[in-house]
Amino acid sequence: MIRNYQDLTRYEMEQVDRANTIVLIPLGALEQHGSQAPLGTDDIIAGAMVKELEKALAEDGETDFPMLMFPVIPVGLSTEHRNFCGSVTLRPDTYYHLLYDISASLVRHGFKKLAFLVCHGGNAPVVQVLSRELRSEFGIAPFILSSGAFDHPDVKATVSEGNIWDFHGGEMETSMVMAVDESLVKLEHSEAGIPTAFTRTKVVKPYGNVSIGWVSEDWKTADGKPIGIGGDPSGATAEKGKIILQTSARVLVPGLKEIRDWKEEPEKD
Ligand SMILES: [Zn+2]
Repeated sequence: MIRNYQDLTRYEMEQVDRANTIVLIPLGALEQHGSQAPLGTDDIIAGAMVKELEKALAEDGETDFPMLMFPVIPVGLSTEHRNFCGSVTLRPDTYYHLLYDISASLVRHGFKKLAFLVCHGGNAPVVQVLSRELRSEFGIAPFILSSGAFDHPDVKATVSEGNIWDFHGGEMETSMVMAVDESLVKLEHSEAGIPTAFTRTKVVKPYGNVSIGWVSEDWKTADGKPIGIGGDPSGATAEKGKIILQTSARVLVPGLKEIRDWKEEPEKD
């Protein structure tokens, strides 16, 4: 059964089959998402994804799925956004140790399957390092899930024509917030951002074979003002957001089932 971790009493937690129950830990962020979307965009998306995952599993017939939903970790690694008003970031080592300590507590109580739901790309590198440490140090199975199926054709189809740079704080993320609460989005303040630093380079990109440690100042308006978002959020709608959230959740269902069924290889003698 899927339940919220924090809702269980100690007695109820003692009854949980902790070795075979997944703890899903949604990793949010508190950082600027442009002038139109809230600072808590990634936290809001994380909270919505948790609900959508439960629905998607139920649609798949998995009404008794062994998973506990951990509270959304509301602050993450947002170094690249720190110079924009309102962004709050942990330092990489602080974030690592925060997640390490949470994981170590869960391991102490016998949990063996932790699934980190990454709802902000900047958190991913720390989680990758951490997951390897947790596996080799504690012998548990740490998994990493990406919260947005941004390459899925149904998700790509939500992006307005000509909006080729859609990325952080753009149309897709803004739509997802609108699907949760339209009143949090101020579309009238939308501005479009393009990665001007990388439109004049052939090889150096924010990601890829030759990359630079990018900062969100690399994303500017057409007249050169740093705005730290990618793409044009002005076409965002709640309906699009619903499609993105639902599709992203459905895409994760097969992976969650494999995590449930995951067994380490038996040792050979
Ligand atoms: Zn975001």
